[in-house]
Amino acid sequence: MVLYDFTCAEGHRFEAGVATMASPAPPCPSCGATAQPRPAAVRLGGASAGTPREAMPRSWEGVAGGDPSVLDGWRQVAQRREREEARHPELAGDRRPVLAHEGVFAAKPLRAGDDVGAALASARRRSDATGGAGSPATGSAS
Ligand SMILES: [Zn+2]
Repeated sequence: MVLYDFTCAEGHRFEAGVATMASPAPPCPSCGATAQPRPAAVRLGGASAGTPREAMPRSWEGVAGGDPSVLDGWRQVAQRREREEARHPELAGDRRPVLAHEGVFAAKPLRAGDDVGAALASARRRSDATGGAGSPATGSAS
């Protein structure tokens, strides 16, 4: 069973379990209106590390042009993730500021505190190995 937060057309919020993600949303228990799952709370059996920061929207389009319920949903996702990161610091990953993330740094961003020369050399090696197309980052960023 998948536990979702739903919001109905009237703005009521409620939580309900559905069999699968493809299951139809249950009607709102308050008013019976059609409900939509909220992005905030996709949880499997109530235990999850939450949404990685990389999966959170970074653009105005990603939050439906600033729709308040979408923003509120993502705010809750972020807060839940922060609580998880406080308990499990390894989830937070590398939070240093990204200085460069394009070109040779597309696969592994250059971060504040990195040795620029070494980072450039390893980025170029990666770039050569993949024909310059870039590749998904692997391994830890430390
Ligand atoms: Zn309702």
